[in-house]
Amino acid sequence: MSSQAEKFQFQAESKQLLNLMIHSIYVNKEIFLRELISNASDALDKLRVLSITQPELLKPGELFEIRLEADKEARTLTIKDNGIGMSRDDLINHIGTIARSGTQEFVNKMKEQPSQDNVKELIGQFGVGFYSAFMAADKITIISKKAGEDLAHEWESEGEGEYTIAVVEKESHGTEIKLHLKPVDVDNGIEDYTDYYSVSRVVKKYSDFINYPIMMKWEREETEKDENGMPKKDGKKTTVIEDKILNSMKPIWMRSQSEVSAEDYNEFYKHLSHDWNEPMKTISYKAEGALEFYSLLFIPSKAPFDFYYQGYKSGLSLYVKKVMIMESFEELLPKYLRFIKGVVESSDLPLNISRETLQQDRNVTQMRKNLTKKALDSLKDIFSNEKEKYLSFWKEFGPALKEGVISDYENREKLLPLLLFESSNDPTALTSLEEYVSRMKDGQTEIYYLFGESRSVVENSPHLEVLKEKGYEVLYFLNPVDEIMTQYLNKFNDKNLKSAAKGDLNLGTKEEKEKVEKEIKEKTAEYGDLLKLVQGKLDKYIKEVKLSHHLVSAPACIVGDEFDMSPYLERLLQKDNPSVSFKKRVLELNAKHPIVIKMQEKFHQDKDDKQLADYSELLLGYALLSEGAPLPDSARFNKILAALIEKSL
Ligand code: ADP
Repeated sequence: MSSQAEKFQFQAESKQLLNLMIHSIYVNKEIFLRELISNASDALDKLRVLSITQPELLKPGELFEIRLEADKEARTLTIKDNGIGMSRDDLINHIGTIARSGTQEFVNKMKEQPSQDNVKELIGQFGVGFYSAFMAADKITIISKKAGEDLAHEWESEGEGEYTIAVVEKESHGTEIKLHLKPVDVDNGIEDYTDYYSVSRVVKKYSDFINYPIMMKWEREETEKDENGMPKKDGKKTTVIEDKILNSMKPIWMRSQSEVSAEDYNEFYKHLSHDWNEPMKTISYKAEGALEFYSLLFIPSKAPFDFYYQGYKSGLSLYVKKVMIMESFEELLPKYLRFIKGVVESSDLPLNISRETLQQDRNVTQMRKNLTKKALDSLKDIFSNEKEKYLSFWKEFGPALKEGVISDYENREKLLPLLLFESSNDPTALTSLEEYVSRMKDGQTEIYYLFGESRSVVENSPHLEVLKEKGYEVLYFLNPVDEIMTQYLNKFNDKNLKSAAKGDLNLGTKEEKEKVEKEIKEKTAEYGDLLKLVQGKLDKYIKEVKLSHHLVSAPACIVGDEFDMSPYLERLLQKDNPSVSFKKRVLELNAKHPIVIKMQEKFHQDKDDKQLADYSELLLGYALLSEGAPLPDSARFNKILAALIEKSL
């Protein structure tokens, strides 16, 4: 008996996804079964974990299982589980809505690049889980009762923008998903999913490792037997129905690698991660010795679309004696390795244990250490032996490893060789620090880098010139995290890392340095009054005006102190927090540049020449623009510039 059904609209994003599913681009539509079984298994995991603290949620002696029921006449396949179940709100929020950060961007992206391949890839990355069932069904009925609640609900939809929810009767907690199957269409990937053999093949292929029995009734004809147990010639035929378990339930992480095929690992990964793509790397690792545990780790081939968002769910699944006791347990790996998915199984932990206690467990700390080492060793291995793969890994997860340099002191030495940067050496390739060092010139003692918003800003920076002239390579730090990282990364292989835009560049031999020093001293004595005048005009923006040691063709540049933040980072921080104040920096002038030489001449002719002030401002503007920074007063800059052009014409 059901109550009056209420009508609902799917959320806009969901509608679009559904549409894609119904007019599906996927050839192997059978994966819908993998998705539904995976959800059922998750629901059982959730109830199992919950029942540790609330045993009353289970009936005495209740066994967890997933049951598949086919009805050939009605052409339906029902997937039943006695897991956690869904309340009315769950049905609305989890089935009718995709409440994940970044969904909108995902859908926008899909609209921007609507080619089949892109859509396929995007869906792969996003994972549409339950919705995939609409590839095989033209109507779906869910009946679900949440553990611990009294009411059960029926959700129903034809996937066309609307669904209904009604209160119904259901005896026990759990979920039943009834698929009203589309007609069999083998050419388009729709088999007869009411057929035992078809279904069991699909289950074996994608869901063999599922930790709960996946049951299905197997019907067969049996002929009456004679006294020797042989079928009688004209014996009576009866239909025998047997309950069969379709999956082997072997925990894949406890099996030796040689026993498990790459496909099986891939399917397990997809179940675990809800990712539709294959993993980039599978790491099967058994720790032996004082602390024994099994682990199976995966590096995804694509960063999940919400990877760089706040709510991104990370962590490994923790099993104790083949029972999952915690999903997404974050303590097993440091945060910067949060892209790794996987399972860890230990017999050294108690079954009944809270997350909080577990966080402080000595074994967990040790496991985290081992797993981190294993993960970093594997990355090193890919770096050394599978360069292409590493590059694609870096593209997806590089910024995460840089976070590691900041946060993981203990493993910093392991992380540094794994970093890649753009550099002045080759615009088409990334370089490691090791490679940079191998190209260092005779006499070069430091590793130079320059921050900037983009490659072109950095490439045109006046700071680069002197280094280029010497043939020194410069690393381009184009990601804000690079800059924060430099506070923790000041040496590599005994070579200091040095910003090309800060402090003294310390170039040349002792004699050369002394010579330059002497020259600057003499020039400063000569230009001192002009420098004072410029300083006076720019006091509001500039801490000091000096002559430069290293400018070549540019008349001016701005230099920060050794430990100052770059102006780029300052600007980024200011965006979030307007109270961040800008630090005044030093304006350096090039005493060999015609502009500066002529300014000095003008100054000598007439100390009070009004134009000197304008030139000072223009030089400041020049220096700021050349590092991609905004001008403090661009209207004024334009006015001075226009007047100057007019005068010179
Ligand atoms: P995903 O599984 O990737 O989160 P789905 O669309 O497959 O996405 O499922 C959405 C949500 O619906 C799940 O996260 C879960 O909360 C809920 N759900 C789906 N199937 C079940 C089920 N059999 N039992 C309980 N909850 C379920």
